[in-house]
Amino acid sequence: MTAGGEGDRFGRQRLIAGWSQERLEAATAVVAGVGALGNEVAKNLALAGVGRLILCDPDTVEPSNLSRTVLVGDDDVGRPKAEAAVRALRRMNPGLRAEPRVADLAVGVGLGELADADVVLGCLDSRRSRLRLLGRCALVDAVLIDGGTQPWGGEMRLRQQKSDAPCYGCTLSAAERAVGDQPWSCRDLVASGPEASSIASTALVASWMTLAALRTLFAVPLPYSVLRVDALSGVSEPVSVRRDPDCPHHHPLEGPVRTLPLSCRATVGELLAALEPGEDPLSWSEFVIPRPCPGCGHYPENRRTSHTQADIDASSCKHCGALVRPGFSQRLRVADPDARLAALGVAPEDILSVRRPEGGYAWRRLEK
Ligand SMILES: [Zn+2]
Ligand SMILES: [Zn+2]
Repeated sequence: MTAGGEGDRFGRQRLIAGWSQERLEAATAVVAGVGALGNEVAKNLALAGVGRLILCDPDTVEPSNLSRTVLVGDDDVGRPKAEAAVRALRRMNPGLRAEPRVADLAVGVGLGELADADVVLGCLDSRRSRLRLLGRCALVDAVLIDGGTQPWGGEMRLRQQKSDAPCYGCTLSAAERAVGDQPWSCRDLVASGPEASSIASTALVASWMTLAALRTLFAVPLPYSVLRVDALSGVSEPVSVRRDPDCPHHHPLEGPVRTLPLSCRATVGELLAALEPGEDPLSWSEFVIPRPCPGCGHYPENRRTSHTQADIDASSCKHCGALVRPGFSQRLRVADPDARLAALGVAPEDILSVRRPEGGYAWRRLEK
């Protein structure tokens, strides 16, 4: 099989001016969210021949997903979306390296992986998750193509490298941006019903996102930051937005990033031993630390620290029946020294901020 020959599955697209199949095959794309939009975007990139895809989503497939998902079917109901999608993608393009991450974004994909990715595709359905992804991409100056669908169209927002162009955060008010800072308990109280959506607008927005990803991979930056796609008026057009000087998402982490000789599978104790004495490493997401019962002082039976929802729910004391609420921390130093970093929500190849004993912060990256 020769490139461009009869047996070349990518022969037709190699004919496109400005196309580079080799560049595509060498590229890594992160797809954050494997719902309807993530399915379409991942399908497009896999068929086009992208080399490596990381797919991240904590959720499992539900029957209500099936009218909008090309990669998952009836047999997949109840299975993690990311794993089901990866199986289908490998059938579509056997040359693809696809990795499922069944986890929330900050836990599933490390900052180092976002920094190394050629493009990040945001396929998330809540403002809070979209802002969180934007914030993480801005920290490591990653290219982010973020999409959102509406009943008859949608929108796409770009974050390009080393640019001070307006971002998704710039288009929101300070109050709207603060949605991302609310604790999960308040957030759940205001949860609304499902968004109206169909495969037609999903496929439309996903195609725009894929085209933007391809232009990025072929090093041809797009001359706009926000695109509005509206089938009702028959118009897809760039929307002009202004850079908000108060938007916090324009400050990449500063200073050198040193790589530690351990991965997220290492324990807290091993991490502390690899740091300088007195250095205080912080996780990006909060984890649960056991606290004694306010009634009788007993600790819960299971004193392991972790970040799973089951551990977060308050439970009643086995000795006196009082309600015991867990504590939360981001300081890895206070976690169980035998706990694995991954179990505390540290992502693969994450970059941890480390508080120095003399003040200030340093950045430490984990190995693969
Ligand atoms: Zn901004
Ligand atoms: Zn008690």
